[in-house]
Amino acid sequence: MILTVTMNPSVDMAYQMDTFQLDEVNRVTQVVKTAGGKGLNVTRVLQQLGVEVKATGIVGGHFGEFIKAELAKQTIDYQFYEINQESRNSIALLHDGLQTEILEAGPTILKNQQMEFLEVYKQLLKTATTVTLSGSLSKGLPSTFYSQLILLAQAVGCAVLLDTSGNSLKEAVHAKVKPMLIKPNETEIAELLGVAKVEKSVVSLKKQLQEPLFSEIPWVVVSMGASGAFAKFQDRFFEVTIPKIDVVNPVGSGDATLAGIAAMIDQAGTPEEVLKMGMTTGMLNAMETSTGQINPNLVQRYYEQVQVIEK
Ligand code: ATP
Repeated sequence: MILTVTMNPSVDMAYQMDTFQLDEVNRVTQVVKTAGGKGLNVTRVLQQLGVEVKATGIVGGHFGEFIKAELAKQTIDYQFYEINQESRNSIALLHDGLQTEILEAGPTILKNQQMEFLEVYKQLLKTATTVTLSGSLSKGLPSTFYSQLILLAQAVGCAVLLDTSGNSLKEAVHAKVKPMLIKPNETEIAELLGVAKVEKSVVSLKKQLQEPLFSEIPWVVVSMGASGAFAKFQDRFFEVTIPKIDVVNPVGSGDATLAGIAAMIDQAGTPEEVLKMGMTTGMLNAMETSTGQINPNLVQRYYEQVQVIEK
């Protein structure tokens, strides 16, 4: 079973409006409410791939109930640690081809709640083989929190795949026990290396992934949107190219990529299979309107068009 962790899920509200004017009354023409958070996108894509998956994390209040009900509607298995504070709302105002986002911070997790969540997590690890950790941490959680989750999971033999940014990514990369995989995008890899921008040539990407910082992390997959990806697996390097596709909504493609990668790692796929599936689910998400959705009937067709070349 793949266990997906979303520490700060949200109710994502997309407000479609004809126009939007500051300091005026603005009327919404259509509202779409979904269970959001990067880890829940990963969960949905794994479910669509037909993989056994369970979602965990922390939810609370009416919005927490909504998140659980949405997952139940899609017959997704979950076991959250529940708190009495409200889970957050994330609002996207969609108008005139623009997307303005208003993001709540979410609840502050108290020390005793952290400890109780860890107990739930340890129980869930007993039946998990692979764990995905996605997104930012709630307020109140230390930036070392993912490192704690990695340590606990790897101690019982689970592979841990981490997709986060900022301090929690830095902490995890520098911690004694490393994740099996990180999936930084171009901005995140630059941040990790302390450079303004990474150059996208094979020579410089390979040089960057050869930095000692990454030597004990078996998998580093740098996803690059329409340009595919460049990856390191142990001491091997791969350039991954993808076909041109009709993009509808690329938001959440990184999460879909992590789902494809997790599915293949969980099945002990070869590096080529892992990368091909990750790129396929990323592309298929970009071809859908909804975030964290793929059309499973198209997997085979796009999988065959991904090229993985060892460098
Ligand atoms: P997000 O934060 O929106 O989840 P990300 O920045 O983590 O995304 P990307 O590198 O943008 O991740 O996308 C992940 C993968 O999805 C890409 O490697 C590619 O396979 C696919 N993808 C994303 N955007 C496009 C695009 N415009 N055209 C084709 N494929 C895309």
